[in-house]
Amino acid sequence: MAANIIDGKAFAATVREKVAGHVARLKEEHNITPGLAVVLVGEDPASQVYVRSKGKQTVEAGMNSFEHKLDADTSEADLLAVVEQLNNDPAVHGILVQLPLPGHLNEDLIINSIAPEKDVDGFHISNVGLLGTGQKSMVPCTPLGCLMMLRDYHGSLSGMDAVVIGRSNIVGKPMAQLLLGDSCTVTIAHSRTKDLPDVVRRADIVVAAVGRPEMVPGDWIKEGATVIDVGINRIQRDGKNKLVGDVDFASAAERAGAITPVPGGVGPMTIACLLANTVTACCRANGLAEPEGLTA
Ligand code: NAD
Repeated sequence: MAANIIDGKAFAATVREKVAGHVARLKEEHNITPGLAVVLVGEDPASQVYVRSKGKQTVEAGMNSFEHKLDADTSEADLLAVVEQLNNDPAVHGILVQLPLPGHLNEDLIINSIAPEKDVDGFHISNVGLLGTGQKSMVPCTPLGCLMMLRDYHGSLSGMDAVVIGRSNIVGKPMAQLLLGDSCTVTIAHSRTKDLPDVVRRADIVVAAVGRPEMVPGDWIKEGATVIDVGINRIQRDGKNKLVGDVDFASAAERAGAITPVPGGVGPMTIACLLANTVTACCRANGLAEPEGLTA
């Protein structure tokens, strides 16, 4: 069986379109422009690329983008002061501090200094707790993107067996919470899981978020399962740089019912969901109805 390919690039474009439509209505009907502030500390090249891309897509969606670039040796007190200023700025509805931060800065302290209602990454401890207790929260962008694709493909996920491989705070754990919220029976697998192939073979939905190139082979996949590959791994093959996921795409696509490719699967959904979260935060801040289909 050849799997259906879940086209994250195309799906992300539809999410961005919905966001732009909602932004236009907010401007026209309420004279409000959603604003996203991104704080970058230091000159990590990958982070610079992400921040540039986030800023560009924010502006393309009709929102205000505020970029704060700080030196790598910025003190914790100075960074906290920037976050505080953004917390108090009514033109800013979403705040994102680009991770990783330089080693001398306490990431947990900084993230937890962001006003929870502006925490569009969904990493603040309040949002983690709200998500864990099934309450309205800001949801981390990458798992939110995965959930949107799964809902779009399946409609209801109720009663499905889902296995999430990886237990990180930014992908694995929130992904598992979201699937539980949609009434899946969820297993979280990780580096100490016994007989991982057997665990994965039981899954109707497999979400791989490990960071190991092509570690999930096709023969771990149940016939007809849906495979969401979050992994982004740079490898050398045939003398060329290549981007691959955590799943061996070729063999998995022979057994899966549907699968996301890498690149062009989960990746493009992450920034689209950041824009969606910013609009959601803006609507909540102004007591307005939230955009449909853009939240968990
Ligand atoms: P992480 O390193 O924080 O977590 C990896 C998890 O994998 C850990 O919980 C660990 O227990 C588990 N693991 C490690 N080895 C394992 C093994 N052999 N068997 C089973 N589990 C194992 O990584 P992360 O931040 O969650 O990211 C995971 C992957 O997703 C990376 O490739 C990352 O680049 C990618 N990612 C992509 C996006 C996106 O936008 N598409 C966003 C975030 C992360």
